[in-house]
Amino acid sequence: MPPADASPSERADAALRRAVYYLDRGFEPAGKAKAFANARKVIEELGDDELESLVAAGKLTDLDGIGPSTSSVISDAVLGNDSEYLAKLERTTRQEATEGSEIRAAIKGDLHSHTTWSDGGATLREMVEASIALGHQYQVITDHSARLTIAHGLNEERLQSQLAEIAVLNMEYAPFRILTGMEVDILEDGTLDLSDEMLAQLDVVVASVHSKLRMDEREMTRRMVMAVASPHVDVLGHCTGRKVVGRGRPPSRFDAEIVFAACSRFDTAVEINCRPERRDPPEDLLELALEWGCKVSIDTDAHAPGQLEWQPWGCDLAARMEIEPERIVNTYGADDLIAWAAAHPTD
Ligand SMILES: [Zn+2]
Ligand SMILES: [Zn+2]
Repeated sequence: MPPADASPSERADAALRRAVYYLDRGFEPAGKAKAFANARKVIEELGDDELESLVAAGKLTDLDGIGPSTSSVISDAVLGNDSEYLAKLERTTRQEATEGSEIRAAIKGDLHSHTTWSDGGATLREMVEASIALGHQYQVITDHSARLTIAHGLNEERLQSQLAEIAVLNMEYAPFRILTGMEVDILEDGTLDLSDEMLAQLDVVVASVHSKLRMDEREMTRRMVMAVASPHVDVLGHCTGRKVVGRGRPPSRFDAEIVFAACSRFDTAVEINCRPERRDPPEDLLELALEWGCKVSIDTDAHAPGQLEWQPWGCDLAARMEIEPERIVNTYGADDLIAWAAAHPTD
């Protein structure tokens, strides 16, 4: 909510951000959220006077990039009216766990999220504020590592700068905890895309395969086992790499018995990735991970604030699979989580 003395353009911007948030959490087509995000840029360029006169004349839609929905949200915000459009979006996009509601209530944070430091659409601050609003106690920030150049991944130098920003924000937002982390690429030979020295400095590390997803099954098994055996790796991210939306992408092939045995041995959690296009791992693999005694982490892999609300899907799945809360690492408090992440066996 904008402060009571906010200017008309500040009120319009806040309302448009709300719309983007609801559209993101509600799995609405990305184009819709983009239209509202673009409208924020259009409004930013207008002064308050011009904005108010366009609203008064009913001529907002004359502007490039402003359509009927965006203009109604902007007009209501400028005039101080309740927006029917926003109210309806709020109602229809709510994400609530059903059978997993107890697990959702036990969850204290999210271990996988991105910001504008890599390919996320929102700043660190925006992501943190959304996580706080959700009632989390902590948020792990896991931007991509350098090898993922299309995602503007972080090299050591940029990661150091991010850690400095997190330290400052942590003072501002205490007692909420912003935990440091990275979604580090598992390179083709199973090594990690960041030095051990840097990895050791991070609170929580998610390791994921993002390249050569179709490599030979034996090689992929070796690659994944190498990564989860690292004492710095805490979570194995979206293990099959499958995509289940649109044209989709088949899962990578690896010997899941061996990979999950390694996860269990080295106490690396298997991620339940809640992104709607990933929904990874599939249930049969998750079942196998549970049989091996693996812990799990229910993560949103959010690239925008509204996406931080995607955990209920994973909570419902965890409830259906009868996963005890003790095996879900997000139910730990921040200190316990950090202590667990720092204590993997090394052989
Ligand atoms: Zn990833
Ligand atoms: Zn990610």
